[in-house]
Amino acid sequence: MIAEDQPRSDNRVAIDPRRFDVHGLPRASVTHRYTTRDLRARRALSRLGRSILREAGAITTVALPIRTFSHAIGTMRMGAAAADSPVDPDGRFRGIDNLWVADGSVLPTAAGVNPSLTIAANALRIGRRIADTAGRPARCAHAGAESFTTSLARIDSPTEGRSGLSAVPRCT
Ligand SMILES: Cc1cc2nc3c(=O)[nH]c(=O)nc-3n(C[C@H](O)[C@H](O)[C@H](O)COP(=O)(O)OP(=O)(O)OC[C@H]3O[C@@H](n4cnc5c(N)ncnc54)[C@H](O)[C@@H]3O)c2cc1C
Repeated sequence: MIAEDQPRSDNRVAIDPRRFDVHGLPRASVTHRYTTRDLRARRALSRLGRSILREAGAITTVALPIRTFSHAIGTMRMGAAAADSPVDPDGRFRGIDNLWVADGSVLPTAAGVNPSLTIAANALRIGRRIADTAGRPARCAHAGAESFTTSLARIDSPTEGRSGLSAVPRCT
């Protein structure tokens, strides 16, 4: 079971200037805490899962919590507002024109489902933006990339309706 955790700005990866790796470079330090709402969602999901299994005839249920986070996402969040998003909706790092981010770090939340396909679709979409910027329009290689583009356009332009969507470059 996967619950969608809330974005929390205190959760972050930082450089620890006091600890060094074998190459003499400062180590990364990870700060991560669940919010009260995250823990509540986890308990609710667990209760629901158990009740479904009991309804299906299970005699007993066992929960094995995974004490790590596999979906480490959101450390470089993408968004419309510069105030809370270092990466713009095209994947470009704000303030450095030729720096693009195309991995899971741009997703604002880890979602309630496995993220890899969304990460890949978004990376294809950003790749197309990079190619467009370089004056070399890319062919759309994956239908998922197009549907992700459409969803993101809906989020970015909630009031623009279909005209907002038609502004999004289409696959050719
Ligand atoms: C145990 C586990 C199970 C998971 N199961 C699932 C699942 O079932 N389904 C699902 O959708 N997701 C799953 N995930 C999550 C998924 O693997 C990640 O969300 C996804 O791989 C993140 O993609 P990414 O491109 O952001 O980063 P990554 O896949 O981590 O890619 C980063 C790459 O950068 C490379 N790299 C790092 N530093 C450097 C450097 N300095 N120079 C050059 N290269 C560097 C790394 O070697 C790596 O290849 C799981 C994760 C874990 C840990």
